[in-house]
Amino acid sequence: MTAQIINGKAISDMIREEVKAETDKLRQQGVVPGLAVVLVGEDPASKVYVGSKEKACIQLGFYSEVHRLSADTSEEDLLALIHKLNEQSTINGILVQLPLPKHINEKAVIDAISVDKDVDGFHPESVGNLVIGDDSLLPCTPAGVIELIKRAGTDIAGKHAVVIGRSNIVGKPVAMLLLRENATVTICHSRTANLKEIASQADILVAAIGRAKAIDRSYVKPGAVVIDVGINRLPDGKLAGDVDYEDCLEVSGAITPVPGGVGPMTITMLMSNTLKAAKKAHGIG
Ligand code: NDP
Repeated sequence: MTAQIINGKAISDMIREEVKAETDKLRQQGVVPGLAVVLVGEDPASKVYVGSKEKACIQLGFYSEVHRLSADTSEEDLLALIHKLNEQSTINGILVQLPLPKHINEKAVIDAISVDKDVDGFHPESVGNLVIGDDSLLPCTPAGVIELIKRAGTDIAGKHAVVIGRSNIVGKPVAMLLLRENATVTICHSRTANLKEIASQADILVAAIGRAKAIDRSYVKPGAVVIDVGINRLPDGKLAGDVDYEDCLEVSGAITPVPGGVGPMTITMLMSNTLKAAKKAHGIG
């Protein structure tokens, strides 16, 4: 058996086309989705991410603002900018690129973003809405994971989903979204006993660990859908996921590669969130 390879790039392109088509329609009604991205400091990876977000905005016809602030920007100045963007009607989504320099309290900054513009989905109220099941902007990578599973043709309801990782940005929200989709969900982490035994019962296995190739075929039930969120840099400079892709390819039913799986979905879901926020701001259902 060879697994279906879930092509995150192709699925992401398809969603972007849908977002673009809706954006074009909105423009005819005089509405242009607007995204503000705030970058503090010179972190090379963050600079690349911000550049990609700016490019995506241009590609989709969004209005975009990128605020590049120096590493010594005070928390007070950053909060003042957030408050200004909260009030600015041309901006529907605000994304503060993390991590922030150490002298800035990340939580205070996330808390300051208006929930209606919280396109990263990290505000405590957004997290609460996600748990309750209320309509809210969903965190991008976890929302991308769900889209990938669905668009690969897997029905989530009734399946046993095992999520390895419990971070606030990936593991926990992925688990909550799978629960919302009516999976039976098990969350595992570094203190889980019998990880292999639990993982190998999963119909849907999501790895969000941050350890290159930690999951080999012995963790995978034959035919399982394997979603690899991990992005790890190997000593030779190449990227690897948390899943040993080559080893799991034969045993799994469907699997995401790294790169080209979950990765391309994150920015696409950010764009989708910005569009959603713009529609809500203008009362368009
Ligand atoms: P964190 O380091 O915040 O969380 C890792 C989680 O994995 C923790 O819950 C930890 O458990 C658990 N864990 C660590 N070691 C083990 C182990 N040996 N067995 C079982 N569980 C373990 O990472 P993130 O959630 O932020 O990211 C996870 C991965 O996803 C990273 O590779 C990251 O680069 C990638 N990522 C990819 C994105 C994308 O766009 N594709 C976006 C965000 C992240 P414990 O809680 O007990 O410490």
